[in-house]
Formats: sequence, C-alpha cells, structure tokens
Amino acid sequence: MLQNSNLKVGIESQVRCAGSCGGCVLTLEERREGAGGLDVFVVDGIKRFVASLVDRFETETGGTHRVLSDDKAAFHFGQGDHLMMDEDKLRDYVRITSETGRGTARGLISTSLIGKPRHIVEKLAAIQDEADKLNQAMSMLLVFDPARIMDRKLQALYDQNLDAVLGRFLVDEPILNIPPNIAETTSQHEVASFLSRHKFDQVEAALFPTIEKAAEYAAQWPDTIRWLTGLIEEGARTGSFTVRLGYAVATLRRETDELDGQGMLEYLTKKMSEAAYIDSFGKIYPALPLGIADVTPLSARHGFQPVGSVFDADLATAEGWANAVRRVARRTFISFQTEQQCSNCPHRNACAAAGFSIYKQVMRGKDIATSDCPIGVREMLDVACEVAN
Ligand code: SF4
Repeated sequence: MLQNSNLKVGIESQVRCAGSCGGCVLTLEERREGAGGLDVFVVDGIKRFVASLVDRFETETGGTHRVLSDDKAAFHFGQGDHLMMDEDKLRDYVRITSETGRGTARGLISTSLIGKPRHIVEKLAAIQDEADKLNQAMSMLLVFDPARIMDRKLQALYDQNLDAVLGRFLVDEPILNIPPNIAETTSQHEVASFLSRHKFDQVEAALFPTIEKAAEYAAQWPDTIRWLTGLIEEGARTGSFTVRLGYAVATLRRETDELDGQGMLEYLTKKMSEAAYIDSFGKIYPALPLGIADVTPLSARHGFQPVGSVFDADLATAEGWANAVRRVARRTFISFQTEQQCSNCPHRNACAAAGFSIYKQVMRGKDIATSDCPIGVREMLDVACEVAN
C-alpha cells in the first residue's frame, strides 16, 4: 500500500538573505545581490503550471480534494529570507497560493528571522492580513544557522522574532542548514537546548551539498555524518525531539521494504509526480516529497538537469508530466541498483526514495565511501531505523 501523500511544490521565489549559513544552497552573490523576487512572466508561468498540477490531482481523486484537504504543506516559497521583501510581494505570494491552490493548499514562506523585530512584525502582519482576507492557510518556514543558534546577541532577537511568528502562524519544524564543519561549530546538545528553549519537538537537518561546495563537504563528510547520527541519537536519548531525516528514512523503509524493482519504480514515479521544484527562471525539476526535506529538489544546484520549464505546454499535460517524472524515477532507482553495496543493502529502496540521489550525484568521484556504502551513510540509516522502532 502506497502512502497517500500531498502535492508539494517548491518555488524558488527569493534568494536574498542577510544570513551566512555555511550549509545554505544559495551562493554568496545570490544572497547579497539576487533579484529579490520573481519576474512577472515567471510568476504567470508558475501559476499556469501549478494550476495544471492541482487540476490533475483533483481529477485523479474524483474532485474531492482528498489529496490536498489535510492541510499539509503544498506550496513552499524558498530559499532565502522573504521577510526582506516588500509587503506587496509577500501579499502576492499569498494570492498565488490562493488562486492556484483554489483555497485547498497551504502556502509556506521561508525566513531566517534575523531582521529587526519591528520590520519582522510588519511583514508578518502583511502576510497575515492578506491570508485572512482570502481565507488562505499560510505558514512560515523557519531556517536557522546552527553555528549561531547559541549566539548570545541572536538569542534575544530570535526570542522576539519567534514570538512574533508563533503568535500568528502555524510553523513546521525549524530547519537547520548543516554546514560542512558542523562537528566543529555546534554540539548536538546545543541543538537540543535551542529546540527545547523554543518548544520544538522536531527538527529538519538540511544537508544539501551543492556542486559549488561538494569538495568542502567531502573533506569532512565522515565527521558530518557522524554528527547527524549523534543528533538522531540525542533526540532519542532525551526523548524531546526527532530529526526529520531519521524519522523519514524509517517511514520509507516501512513503505518500500517489500517492493520489488517494478513496484519501486511505480512508487518513485508516483511520489515524483506529486512533487516539483521550480527555480527562479521557471525551470522545473522533479522532487521527492519525503526524506532529506519536505520538497527535496533534484536541481541544477546538485548537478541535475531540468525536465523543462513552466512555459512548456507539454509539461502541463498529464501525459507530458508523467513521462518526464518516469524517466527521472528510473534513473534515480537504477543508480542505487548498479552499486554493488547498494544491491545488498536493506536501505536500498528507502535510500532512493529519500532523495539521497543528491549525494550520489553531487559527490561523484569524491572519496566519501565507507567499506559498506558508496555515500557513507549506511550506519546513520541503521541508527535511524533502530531509533524509530
Ligand atoms: S545506505 Fe549506502 S549502501 Fe545502502 S542503499 Fe544507501 S547508498 Fe547504498
């Protein structure tokens, strides 16, 4: 039985950010000088493409909105700090969600919460005001730099800004961008303290090495993976939080363990047809909706090619989209079948479904393998599954 999951669309609608997370997928230039929003033509294309996805889901589910009705994340506006944008643009994103999601989808807007509290409150109020006007469910995606969560000056700022968000919006788990040197900068105990201080019981450890940073990550990969394993263990030991990656892999194991090759291909195709990532130029990439992140994009930042753009009429058809994702699903699964260690590994199906193809693609040729795993994560996945059982 396949898990009934939601339609999830990631939209790269803001690249500017005043933060400096070592684990950010954006480049320094993008964060400082990026366009700070989407071109109006790209917005039109996104609305058409996303509306076609929503239409298809409504048709496939008998028009009952079953897929979208449980108010899980639907449209993720990422990756930078949207609260640096002017209020009109923020209101636009609420309207895009409302128009294309027909009021059945939730919009999530990312922020690093490092602006002045007065500004943060004004921007949040604009989102809330528009959301109330349109009766549109909106949430905030909170992204933190783990190296700075214990910074004394920032603590006071986070306290105020988090209070402002939590008083107005539902939030999912906070996202920690994991830098290559996490083991040197932050202890798992510090993460646990931060989570407990702000009453979060889950955290997303976003480990997204990009082409640009792959060598840097590779140099410290074993320490980074050990650190993540330690974070999963710390959550289990204290009983106070779970790490999305660990919990997601354990869930995927349960869902996919019994599937043979054909079944796995169907599973991946279905999952990928329910998720998409659109960059700021309107290029469309397949994505996986559970695992490393809620929307794990197989994007150019990680060495993948787009399947087309929001301006391609073909991708807005059921057949065109199904063909595009089927091709990527096949490549994703085959890449785990062709490695000898993977073919004997109990995590093989879960690994493909969790989006670890990003690590395989971006780290190719770099020395991150252990004796039993080409990407050095098998022990971490053993621990994740043990902790979840
Ligand atoms: S954990 Fe490692 S060996 Fe197992 S499937 Fe994943 S990449 Fe392959």
